[in-house]
Amino acid sequence: MPKTHQLEPGRQIRLADCPTTAGTFHDNRKQAEKDFAKLRKKIALLQHRLYSEGKQSLLVVLQAMDAGGKDGTIRRVFEGVNPQGTRVTSFKVPSKEELAHDYLWRIHKAAPQRGMIGVFNRSHYEDVLVVRVEKIVPEAIWRRRYDEINTFEKHLSDNSTRILKFYLHISKSEQRERFQDRLDDPTKNWKFSLDDLEKRKLWNEYQAAYEDALNRCTTEWAPWFAIPADQKWYRNLAIARVLHATLVEMDPQFPASEDLESVVID
Ligand code: AMP
Ligand code: MG
Repeated sequence: MPKTHQLEPGRQIRLADCPTTAGTFHDNRKQAEKDFAKLRKKIALLQHRLYSEGKQSLLVVLQAMDAGGKDGTIRRVFEGVNPQGTRVTSFKVPSKEELAHDYLWRIHKAAPQRGMIGVFNRSHYEDVLVVRVEKIVPEAIWRRRYDEINTFEKHLSDNSTRILKFYLHISKSEQRERFQDRLDDPTKNWKFSLDDLEKRKLWNEYQAAYEDALNRCTTEWAPWFAIPADQKWYRNLAIARVLHATLVEMDPQFPASEDLESVVID
């Protein structure tokens, strides 16, 4: 059974038709916050098992337009999990060394080892998003990347990594409000960059690139979720629900203890 907001392989979506608000999915913020707090605790307990088991890993990919809530999601959803069992990687403009390799090199290096939850703040999808819209490589090169990405993700999945990909879907007007907030609030100024406004001008091009990435890279082994993200309280709950359900499915077990009955501590 697909989870709420989960895309299905072969079924094309149009982002313009995907909701950015909680709408009919949820109308009670207080209840949502309570449910979220409970889920977060359950996620932390399951992560503890995952870490102790050391046999499988979970990769969470976060993508969004600027101010879409990637940082806030990481801060809130993973609050309370054991830092030792989690690794967050933020992918920026590739370094000289990274550019000297194929685009998946830096991604593969950051893939979570068994027992870990890996969180990607941006990811290999930038290589079919910003790279496509800004025409950083020719079309013939980015076009073939969708298949390459699917193959790469299959490889991870075949090697004990569960993959969940979240696109935080915000409206253009919500982005305006969040940018304005970053301008007005001195503690948020650092998050604002003039480059963000250049990207905003290319909103439609970015939406089209996202649409292709979601449609072409939704697979059985690495599904995309289009999360309504205008309201942070709903975004957090929706993501926590998927994480929790996935960890329950993964069913990590504490390792069976060896025969400890005869052990004596002097
Ligand atoms: P931020 O997430 O705000 O720190 O910004 C990181 C910046 O790095 C964004 O503008 C991304 O579009 C950019 N970026 C990430 N990956 C790539 C990539 N593979 N090629 C070009 N730019 C990238
Ligand atoms: Mg930014």
